[in-house]
Amino acid sequence: MGGEKDTKMPSASSAHYPQLAVRPVGKQITSIYQDRLRQFVDGGQYSGVNLVARLDDARVSGSPNVKLHVWSAPGLERPTFKEATSKDNEFKKTSIGESFGPSWSTHWFELRFTVPKGWKSKRQVELHWDSQGEAMVWTKDGKPLQGLTGRGERTEWILKDEYREVGKEHTIYIEMACNSMFGNAPGGDTIQPPDPNKYYTLVECDLVSVNVDARALYYDFWIIGDAAREFPDDSWEQHKALQICNEIMDCFIAGEGSNDCIRECRKIAQRYLGDKIDSAEVYANKQPVLVDGIGNCHIDSCWLWPWAETKRKVARSWSTQCDMLDRYPEYRFVASQAQQFQWLEQLYPYAFDRVKSHVKEGTFQPIGGSWVEHDTNMPSGESLVRQFLYGQRYFESRFGQRCRTFWLPDTFGYSPQIPQICRLAGMNRFLTNKLSWNNINNFPHTTFNWVSLDGSQVICHMPPSETYTAQAHFGDVKRSESQHKSMDQDATSLLVYGKGDGGGGPTFEMLEKLRRCRGVSDTVGRLPRVHLGNSVEDFFDRLEKKEATGETELVTWYGELYFEFHRGTYTTQADNKKNNRKSEVLLHDLEYLATLVTLKGVKGYKYPKKQIDKMWEGVLLCQFHDCLPGSSIEMCYDDSAEIYADIFETGGHLIKEALKALGYGDKGEPSTLNTLSWERSSPATLEAASKPHATVRQISDSEFTLENDAFQISVEDGAITSLYDKRAHREVVPKGSRANQLVLFDDKPLYWQAWDVEVYHLRSRKELKASSTTITDHGPDKVSVTSLTEISDKSWVKTTLSLSASSSGSPIIETTAEVEWHETMKFLKVEFPVAITNTEASYETQFGIVKRPTHYNTSWDMAKFEVCCHKWADLSEHGYGVSVLNDSKYGFATAGHVMRLSLLRAPKAPDAHADMKTHHIRWAILPHDGALDERTVRAGYEFNYPPLHVKAHPQPQELASLLSAFKFTPDSSPSLVVDTVKRGEDDEDVHPGDSSGAMLAKRGRHVIVRVYESLGGRGRGTIRLDGVKATKAWKCNVLEDELEELEVGKAGLRVELRAFEVATYKLRVG
Ligand SMILES: [Zn+2]
Repeated sequence: MGGEKDTKMPSASSAHYPQLAVRPVGKQITSIYQDRLRQFVDGGQYSGVNLVARLDDARVSGSPNVKLHVWSAPGLERPTFKEATSKDNEFKKTSIGESFGPSWSTHWFELRFTVPKGWKSKRQVELHWDSQGEAMVWTKDGKPLQGLTGRGERTEWILKDEYREVGKEHTIYIEMACNSMFGNAPGGDTIQPPDPNKYYTLVECDLVSVNVDARALYYDFWIIGDAAREFPDDSWEQHKALQICNEIMDCFIAGEGSNDCIRECRKIAQRYLGDKIDSAEVYANKQPVLVDGIGNCHIDSCWLWPWAETKRKVARSWSTQCDMLDRYPEYRFVASQAQQFQWLEQLYPYAFDRVKSHVKEGTFQPIGGSWVEHDTNMPSGESLVRQFLYGQRYFESRFGQRCRTFWLPDTFGYSPQIPQICRLAGMNRFLTNKLSWNNINNFPHTTFNWVSLDGSQVICHMPPSETYTAQAHFGDVKRSESQHKSMDQDATSLLVYGKGDGGGGPTFEMLEKLRRCRGVSDTVGRLPRVHLGNSVEDFFDRLEKKEATGETELVTWYGELYFEFHRGTYTTQADNKKNNRKSEVLLHDLEYLATLVTLKGVKGYKYPKKQIDKMWEGVLLCQFHDCLPGSSIEMCYDDSAEIYADIFETGGHLIKEALKALGYGDKGEPSTLNTLSWERSSPATLEAASKPHATVRQISDSEFTLENDAFQISVEDGAITSLYDKRAHREVVPKGSRANQLVLFDDKPLYWQAWDVEVYHLRSRKELKASSTTITDHGPDKVSVTSLTEISDKSWVKTTLSLSASSSGSPIIETTAEVEWHETMKFLKVEFPVAITNTEASYETQFGIVKRPTHYNTSWDMAKFEVCCHKWADLSEHGYGVSVLNDSKYGFATAGHVMRLSLLRAPKAPDAHADMKTHHIRWAILPHDGALDERTVRAGYEFNYPPLHVKAHPQPQELASLLSAFKFTPDSSPSLVVDTVKRGEDDEDVHPGDSSGAMLAKRGRHVIVRVYESLGGRGRGTIRLDGVKATKAWKCNVLEDELEELEVGKAGLRVELRAFEVATYKLRVG
């Protein structure tokens, strides 16, 4: 081999490397050096000598610098600032250490403070206030500035320049609420009913000069310490973090905690975090980002506290966030629920203006598009539409923009029609988080296309950190990658951080920590790069573009997002659920009738838009995701009962007015008015059409037979032992089985009482046997037997099973039940074993049907052991089926051939008295020849929308054509349903006409007709417009934007819908 001879030999020793060992050096034991880190920042035994001891630069408390006086509002009143600071109220001297109460009471403090003379050059002076519960800082002239949380959390209010003048006395007010963020639970179990007699002690009210460098070092050390603990042991980044932390501690010890050494320590930290973490500049580089941090504060509109407290929570939380937005330029905050904006607007105009100006600059971002963050299982289809209609209209009218993302992090399962309704409400993005609480199956996607019953889709994202109240910990950022389930398609995600459920939102700590997390990513790497400054829309825009350009193809999820938890919420708080459905029915009838009146052109009648809006807003509020599901405290149900009582009173009155305007009087033969879009067989026609058909016979003490043209029914000990369909020649109840059988279960879920029913409750099934049965209707129109069933010495059920004479239409077997219910942790249901075989049952949902398994093959099937239905559930096989109709019930189960309607639960938390009262319940059995079809859909409506009782119209021909309008012609597909008839939102003649900030009236008069295809197939038909002078027609979205002009034909409006489509038509009239 060639090559020159190497003449430069390496030297045997380097000048830098000593030949002799200086001293023994041991390998660090990682766990010891990791555990040591706590010493530096813990509040324990070293807190006098560690960094915590250096956080305050100086502190003064009490007189002469801090003077405190208090006025306690009488009772549980929540007075306004003006009321509280009235000259009539005597403010008494008080001090730290005093206690205030009881639970839910309010105390106003006048706080006069003087910044000490020597503090002129201090960098940051704060007031630290801790009254162990929530509080709000007010200026002396009544401007709400910021919320305070208590118990060591968010206790600081930073003094702005106008309060910093030394030696001068300044005054502020503090409104103290006697509740914590999560209400007034006794002890540590937050879901226990509130203790009415809690007292809160003022533990801190000091002026503090903050050691800004020490505070910054505290967050430096926190995040690097997390890297030392949470990065994998086999990564160099973990080892480096550990060395840096130990170096910082050594430096602090050597410098005896002086300000100079603290600055030195921060320089050491920069080797891990970079040198830009003290400002938003840390986010300035254009490196690719994996995680977008979005601040939010989840404020339950009611839950462990009533609406009245929520109104204050909104003001406290959002004022605080406006302040944060001023201090952190990178910060973006989202807030949902138009209702909460409306409360702020009405009660806190100063805070609302502040929000408005931040919305304008783009940092405070309204999101969600709905009136409240509502339940999606139980509200009717029209209610879901109105959530968006009222929500989007509010956002548009106040902020000039609609929302593009439906934001629903905390709701208990998601209807399969949400994507369709969202699209129709201008939103094609959806964010939720709750499915991460599933306690059976792990939902497999983070980012995916969610597809509705009709094929409509939205992009859905479920943040991989699996929380909407992330604390912005290092671990939350890390989990945004490690728990991401859709990285094959796209690895980015949202990190939704901020204190929540009881409000609050992000703290400054979270913003400081996130700056440092970003510093870690840019300086050493390994941590997914987090970014602040982008919006939720930016995140979805990028995903949408990626999908549109074919760069990725998101996976799909068809149908409902069933929540494998909180299944008891379909049943708990029965009255509230009943009121929900009754008010939906009432509003349906009212809008239909009021529309007819305006079409008839009755002089002096004004479409009651303002009252209808108020009624709808009440219904929508009560559909909040802790109200309608039954998971709130008792106070909330007192509140909602009041709202519903108002709705029924106003609605009843308005319906009377509309009927009067249509010409119905007080005199004449009793008659009925049908508000549904098909002819139904009314009791009056039945009577005329037939001779008595229904008969009842007593066979023995406990055995009876009821019969009409359609059925022969045997009742034994209160249950149906045989139901023979005479026309189909088949027995419906399997031999030896008992239908309409009441069953009782022990109901103790793992923890969340009002929310959950756990699968094991099924093992405790107990049949309840009637103690007596008597004939209560002898015919000929109707026969009934009434059975009394004792549940315990306190509770009983009286069921009346009835059969009508009629066999025309779709005859049903109806049961009414009166239940006296005083149980503890029991679940009452009624069972219908049926001789039907199918692996799937059908359940009505909003504008459609959802199918679910009747078996437990897989854990996904088994998880659906209790499900939500609307007006009916159906089990059909080829050629025959049975539907079970209900009035205002939502819980159901079909296991094998047993159908089971859930009636009442008895949880004791968070409402100790939930459902402890008398209940009136109705249900019915509808056996049907042939497949599930429009007979069941219509029967469900007819069972829930009774015809209105009127006196015969004096001139029926005057109304005849109007009453046939908005119904389908007989040749139309029977699966088409006209669900809603109302006036156009912006019509000049219905506009409330006040300056409440509503949308502007537009010229013209319109009728809105909402139609859907109910059975899952293409539907064609003609909507009759008899007596309606329609000059133009459009298909529109649910926000009533015109999409496509249609021709109005002679017979009416010809329409065609795809399977399960919801279509809205707008007709210009007059
Ligand atoms: Zn919530």
